[in-house]
Parts: sequence; C-alpha cells; structure tokens
Amino acid sequence: LVIVTVIAMAVIARMLKPATTDALTGVNNRQSFLSQVKDRLSEHRQIPYAFSMIDIDHFKQINDTLGHAAGDNAIRQIAAHLNRVFSADDLIGRYGGDEFLIFMQCESKAIISRRMDQLGRCLAQGGPVFSDSLTCSAGIVYTKDYTLSTDELMTRADKTLYQAKKSGRNRSLFYGDPDPEDKPEEKTAA
Ligand code: GH3
Ligand code: MG
Repeated sequence: LVIVTVIAMAVIARMLKPATTDALTGVNNRQSFLSQVKDRLSEHRQIPYAFSMIDIDHFKQINDTLGHAAGDNAIRQIAAHLNRVFSADDLIGRYGGDEFLIFMQCESKAIISRRMDQLGRCLAQGGPVFSDSLTCSAGIVYTKDYTLSTDELMTRADKTLYQAKKSGRNRSLFYGDPDPEDKPEEKTAA
C-alpha cells in the first residue's frame, strides 16, 4: 500500500508540474509566481522585499538574426543564471516572452543590487546554452509595504523597467528613485 501511495503521489506531482512551471525554462510560470508572491505578502513579515521585473535587451534582434531556436536558448540561459544568482528562498518566474520576475526578501537595496550586478556579469560572459553576450534591464520595487497588491507591484516594476529601457538599457532602476531622463533644469544666467 505504501508503494502504491508513493507512486500515486509521484504521478499526481508530475501531472501538476506543468500547471505551475514554465515549459521552456522550468521556472515558475506567471500564475504560480504571482500566487506564491501573494502568499509571501500575506505573511506581513518585518523584512523589506524586492519585486523585480527583468527584460532582455534587444531580444527581437536575436530572433531576427539567429532564429527563434537561438532566441529560446537565450531565454533558457537567463533562467539558468537567475537560478544560480538567486537563492532557493527567492521566487523566480517567467512573465512571458523575454521577461522574468523576482521576489526577494532582503534587508537592504544593496543586496538586490549586488544580485543584479552578478546577473549582468553572467549574461555578459555567454554560456553553453547561448554563446553570445546578453544584457538586460530591470525595474525594481523595494519596499516594506506588505499591503501592496501584486497588480500594483507589477505596475510599479513595469513603469520603472520602461525608464531603465528609455535611459539606455543594461541597468537596474528602483521605483521612486529619480528618473535618469529627468535632468535638472539648467539655471538661466541673470
Ligand atoms: P527591448 O530592449 O526594448 O526589450 O527590446 P526587445 O527586442 O527585447 O523587445 P521585446 O522585449 O518587446 O521582445 C520580445 C520578443 O520576444 C517579441 C516576441 O517575438 C519574442 N518572444 C516571445 N516569446 C518568445 C519565446 O518563447 N521564444 C522566442 N524565441 N521569442 C519569443
Ligand atoms: Mg526585451
């Protein structure tokens, strides 16, 4: 009976996996990621958290010049690097296309910044799955506010990602920090 139960549980786990996992990369799919973030937010812990939206720069060029299969490999590669850079406590998800999401509870902005720098270095090196160098941009919400909805977090991260793209790509920006594109007005001579 024990053996039958174990086998049945393994079969059920296998059947459930595709519902939570992104088929191309093996990370959480969007729905599973956001549902786990909701669970984390409901815990209302004292520790701040980072919610990050990451998007490969000029990804369409890879599809256009090297083909869709190479594009798939670039997506697989960034997922592999995310798994390496972030720990088992952090949540990694694929939003869709070349966009990924991270949820990480951490005591300082410097910690998530270091992780993003690490990711940048890994992507620059290329790797076995995709040999060319890649860069990415990220919009990061760093906050202690556990009452924010996942919709609000997505909106803030997306807006900040857009600023990162607009201001030159290959960078991570924090929501609420000054937009690099908003240059201080020059003083006119009296
Ligand atoms: P940007 O720097 O502004 O992000 O430019 P981009 O070229 O990366 O533009 P964008 O992020 O909008 O490109 C997403 C493209 O990803 C569009 C779509 O054709 C392609 N795409 C979406 N899903 C997949 C996939 O599973 N595999 C591959 N190879 N391409 C995909
Ligand atoms: Mg992109």
